[in-house]
Amino acid sequence: MKLQNQIAIITGASSGIGKAVAKSLALEGAKVIINYPFEKTKADAQAVLDDIKQAGGDGIIFQADVSKETDVQNMFAATIQQFGTVDILVNNAGIQSDAPFEEMTLDKWNAVIGVNLTGQFLCAREAIKEFLRRGIDETKSVAAGKIICMSSVHQIIPWAGHANYAASKGGINMLMQTLAQEFAPKKIRINSICPGAIQTPINHNAWATPEALNSLLTLIPYKRIGQPEDIGKAAVWLASDESDYVCGTSIYVDGGMTLFPGFTTNG
Ligand code: NAD
Repeated sequence: MKLQNQIAIITGASSGIGKAVAKSLALEGAKVIINYPFEKTKADAQAVLDDIKQAGGDGIIFQADVSKETDVQNMFAATIQQFGTVDILVNNAGIQSDAPFEEMTLDKWNAVIGVNLTGQFLCAREAIKEFLRRGIDETKSVAAGKIICMSSVHQIIPWAGHANYAASKGGINMLMQTLAQEFAPKKIRINSICPGAIQTPINHNAWATPEALNSLLTLIPYKRIGQPEDIGKAAVWLASDESDYVCGTSIYVDGGMTLFPGFTTNG
């Protein structure tokens, strides 16, 4: 078990990638805090926890909107009260709210930046406070704490019609690198995972019909859509001491989507 007794908060863990990450970390011995944002997603969060417990894992569910400072502070306080500390944060919660740029309302802009970028700031700040307070616990890890930021290939691939989303992911990249630089001397490791197209509710329209899926596959040299478990495996590695010398890096788990597939046949 690579994460025995470590306490991991995974935001937005009632579905998709967050759910797979929570299950993967729990299978490696982490106690997981399965965060969900709203009452209507509580049953899904509970189902994730039930599956984890059935597989021999442990954890709790916790409702918090990551874009709200007091919700995030309450989540960390409750986690520390129940489990004593936090060892791993997976900043996964994210939304899309698309529009042609000239029609994008300030509400749409603020909603996406609020969850995707401000949410990562708020959670990272609370995690780092706790990592600094506790320091290294060598019975669990040689690092004082680990943060995994769920970014996207769209931290480097521009995305017309999704300016708010692409801007949030570009922002995550610089937030991640800056925090990694600031806290590496304290033995806190901060890295990003950049998924390509992963089959989850967020991009349902991109794979729901054979036509949509075929069109999507033209963007993926490896010729399959990604599964949430592909990201779960990368998250386990980044959270574990096996990646101890990995600091401030983005790992692209994308079937080659960032390889400019349009140039495969000579451009
Ligand atoms: P998803 O819609 O299944 O997951 C997003 C999760 O975030 C949901 O569980 C949702 O309840 C939660 N959430 C939304 N608002 C929240 C809030 N205010 N507070 C807390 N949680 C909130 O989609 P997903 O694909 O699993 O997305 C997870 C992350 O992966 C996102 O950051 C997304 O941008 C990123 N990502 C996904 C893909 C993909 O192809 N699926 C690609 C690149 C990046």
